[in-house]
Amino acid sequence: MKKILILTAGFGDGHNAAARNVREALELTAADAEVTVADLYELSYKRLNTLAKKAYLGAVRYAPQLWGGIFKVLDHAPWLADGRGLVRMQKSLVQLLEETQPDCVVSTYPAYGSLIQALYHDHCERPFRFVTIITDARSVHSLWYRARSDRFVVCDAATAEVLQQAGVEKESIAALGFPVSPLFGVTPKDLPERPRLGQMLRVLYVINTGKKKCGKAIDRLLAIPNVELTVTVGRYSELKEKLARRAREHAGRLHLLGWTNQMPQLLMRSHVVIGKAGGAAVQEAIAAKCPMIINQVIPGQEAGNAHLIRTANLGAVADGNKDVARWVERLAEDSGELWAQWRGQLEKISRPDAALRIANLILGECDAANKLLRPEQFPGRPAAHNGNAHEVALPARNGSMAMRAQIARKKTGALLCDFHVHSNYSDGKLTVSEVVDFYGSRGFDCICITDHWADPRRLIGKLARLTPLTLSYDQIEEYFEVITREARRAWRRYGLLVLTGLEFNKDGPTKRTSAHLLGIDLKTLISPRLDLMETITRIHAQGGLAVAAHPHLMKSEWAKETLYLWDNQDKFAPVIDAWEIANRNNLFTPVSRRRLPFLANSDFHKPKHIFSWKTLLNCEKNPEAIKECIRRNENVAITLYRGDAVTAATEIVPNRQKQPSLPLGLEAAARQLPETGVSDSLLLHRVAR
Ligand code: ZN
Ligand code: ZN
Repeated sequence: MKKILILTAGFGDGHNAAARNVREALELTAADAEVTVADLYELSYKRLNTLAKKAYLGAVRYAPQLWGGIFKVLDHAPWLADGRGLVRMQKSLVQLLEETQPDCVVSTYPAYGSLIQALYHDHCERPFRFVTIITDARSVHSLWYRARSDRFVVCDAATAEVLQQAGVEKESIAALGFPVSPLFGVTPKDLPERPRLGQMLRVLYVINTGKKKCGKAIDRLLAIPNVELTVTVGRYSELKEKLARRAREHAGRLHLLGWTNQMPQLLMRSHVVIGKAGGAAVQEAIAAKCPMIINQVIPGQEAGNAHLIRTANLGAVADGNKDVARWVERLAEDSGELWAQWRGQLEKISRPDAALRIANLILGECDAANKLLRPEQFPGRPAAHNGNAHEVALPARNGSMAMRAQIARKKTGALLCDFHVHSNYSDGKLTVSEVVDFYGSRGFDCICITDHWADPRRLIGKLARLTPLTLSYDQIEEYFEVITREARRAWRRYGLLVLTGLEFNKDGPTKRTSAHLLGIDLKTLISPRLDLMETITRIHAQGGLAVAAHPHLMKSEWAKETLYLWDNQDKFAPVIDAWEIANRNNLFTPVSRRRLPFLANSDFHKPKHIFSWKTLLNCEKNPEAIKECIRRNENVAITLYRGDAVTAATEIVPNRQKQPSLPLGLEAAARQLPETGVSDSLLLHRVAR
């Protein structure tokens, strides 16, 4: 098995994206690779780090010029210069190295090179290989290469040149492209063609900042004939709401999207993208061969990206929204001459498979590490080699993600489950993949993601404001796809089963007419317009469970109570598989008095909701056994989850049942993946190179 530790940091963009994409590529390329991603700032500082990030984002938003100056002086790492800060980060790093025992450490952040060099400064041999992935293009801060690295990965030949000029050995530099998502390797069917008179121009507008002016910007773009505009607003759901009227007025020409996982496909389908000069954004546009019109540049860190777009003739840097519209207009003129020029340049430098090529390089470094090491050095414990490191070496104790995941793997006995979890596809705070990491690292065995799915006709009166808080029709397909994909990763990485579900919100004007119904382990979409009985029938037809959510009176700051199912038990008790006996901190005693089959769930919306009631099941760890256990409602218990205590209580018996290659149900999910084209095309890439 190859063990890889990827170090990243949440400052600026690009570092986390690079880390995530390389992890994805590694997991696709080598089934036996164990990849850990860690943010040393997060591990070392937590609260302070959140504050610093907020300050960073605030400075970027309100005083970009000022930030430009700060950037020059401090680069990305505001307090690394502080001596005490350094010791704290070293401690975290040493602990992480002990826990993960990596063959190769990969850094996507400039400061970590110096940190590693400081740990192994006595010429003692590092027990792992070290790869630095430089996320800047062309203007590269010296912090990136001041410390030694076995390999430097850069995005293009020009950036490689910059490094060489600065004295970095040529052999150690590999220009493989920026690690964009491996999904860029999957070409969509309807690629954009050279724009000709009267033909539609597909424009993608990515809104990150400058939210106030974007309404006007959209109007300007729609004033251009033949423009078909897709706007992504990310997590700004209020903004989506604000723009909804325009979308209705320009139905067919203006498409509004919230946060989306489909950026690769959107970029590849578009003639041009409008957005800010973020490192990842620019590199994604290049990978998709999509010309870019930059509408905002943060001085300092983003200047290099904007410079790259302009000088390499891959698009334009606009001066204000008027100028953006003018550039778009120009694209349609001269039978698409300008567009063809930009596209031609992009074809030359585009590297959509960069993440896979980098993954191959890293796996090669792992082999090199294993060959180099003498047995007594393996597994490597930096503290044993280094006096300096010894002072900061800590015993590996609980607390870190990797460690808890290890505990989770050892765990047997009752399965720790949560069947009511929201992601940011509706009103949850975390993305699906963040939910997976959150539960996976805490040793959970099974969760079901159940985003709100509401009948649009029922969203009457004041409830209409909830619209952006529920799944929409244009995202439902993506929702199923993304959960299926993340379920594969969750199983491989954490041994965590992730089921797809929906929370059917059937809200009437009063609590007596309102019901929330969970559909658990769904294979396909069920219309939100069906009545409750019909919905339950469809859920059962897919082999899923129908569960009554918060069925009785409860204390909640904002949610309305939902008593319809409870009031109509005669009708519904025979068909409902289980009733929530607990929802987050609420206990429903009447459910136990009536001896109804029960479950306990968090109704998870944000991290603090993890500390709440959960279900323990004593059955085999696969979806069918779990569902059967709930239906029979034998060997079911509830527990009030308070963090490590639960994990500790269940880790005693070390006799984990043999894990099947893939659990039932997931096998079907895994079979679906090649249909998206990912596996097949990835394979081709590997053979071709
Ligand atoms: Zn609910
Ligand atoms: Zn809910």
